[in-house]
Amino acid sequence: MTGDSRIHNFNAGPAVLPLSVVEECRAALPNLKGSGFGLLEISHRSQTFQNVLDSAIARIRRVLSVPDGYTILLLQGGASLQFYMSALNLLRPGDAADFLLTGGWAKKAAAEAARIGDAQAIWEPSEEGYRRVPSDGDYAVREEAVYLHYTSNNTLYGTQFHHIPDSGGKPLVLDASSDIAGVPLDISAHDLVYAGGQKNLGPSGVTLVILSPWALSRVEGGAQQGGIPTMLNYSVHASSGSLFNTPNTFGIFVLERVFNWLEENGGLEASIARNEAKAALLYGELDRTSFWVPYADKDSRSVMNVTWRLADEALEPVFLAEARDAGLGGLKGHRSVGGIRASMYNGCHIESVEALVDFMQKFEANNS
Ligand SMILES: *Cc1c(COP(=O)(O)O)cnc(C)c1O
Repeated sequence: MTGDSRIHNFNAGPAVLPLSVVEECRAALPNLKGSGFGLLEISHRSQTFQNVLDSAIARIRRVLSVPDGYTILLLQGGASLQFYMSALNLLRPGDAADFLLTGGWAKKAAAEAARIGDAQAIWEPSEEGYRRVPSDGDYAVREEAVYLHYTSNNTLYGTQFHHIPDSGGKPLVLDASSDIAGVPLDISAHDLVYAGGQKNLGPSGVTLVILSPWALSRVEGGAQQGGIPTMLNYSVHASSGSLFNTPNTFGIFVLERVFNWLEENGGLEASIARNEAKAALLYGELDRTSFWVPYADKDSRSVMNVTWRLADEALEPVFLAEARDAGLGGLKGHRSVGGIRASMYNGCHIESVEALVDFMQKFEANNS
């Protein structure tokens, strides 16, 4: 495999990874770091793997500027398990938590938290089709809420917060699955940040969870402590350094290589600049002509997932088929929006976006 036959991959997740990382995986498969054990065959208790895990945690801490007192965990179960696990660990019986329902994932997070406590949506634009995120004045956090949960980037609808929402002084819980390490993020302003790996960080099956001292203290002092199943208890994973049970060793290896790639390419700041350049290019095309109809409101546009319709919706299947023939894959919009979605996570190279825009201009010329 040279990479030559790889297509321009706009999948929403699992998503494209830097080719250099994919090749590092291939090299490690038969023999990880000269240990004689293959990447898929090595013990999670070996020193070789411990070094990979330690390096992953150190790189995450550096790239994301995770404050010293915060705990970094690499778990399984995806962001979807965190919907429940975050509430289970942070809430005590009868406690309340508030949610900004900016899309499908936020809705699922609130639904899982409602199994634990008084979870309430304090803002939801569903009748507007989730085209924007709220401004601070649009909602009020309840006095009794223990925390405010939000989703920084709405993968399905292509909207994104470009500010930290006002939580009225309450702790903030963030699902950053689809924009972590690609946009500005002040971890110190949050108490719990979680992200499934398969969009910006690596493969599926590994989940990054970052906890403030407050978040960990909620678990340890919690009235539900005795009732929290072992595998769902943050303090169990924290005290065992994410090695309570067998972790996703492969996923952690890939994640460590992705953070290495980020560090070698200018860290978070350069990652943000690359993503802004890709977004400027594609939104520039969408705003150039009424042939395209961008989905999200301008102020809420996502730099990660760009969603649009064609003015003539009947042309959409033609667009997708011809795009695929031109070497552009993964562009079909989520069923809740329809149309086209281009996901341009950290691993997506600007050359792919240039190829997409070039194709779009030709398609318009051929169909106008
Ligand atoms: C993809 C996604 C999820 C679900 O992630 P899983 O790892 O599949 O559970 C949750 N939240 C957001 C914002 C996502 O983009």
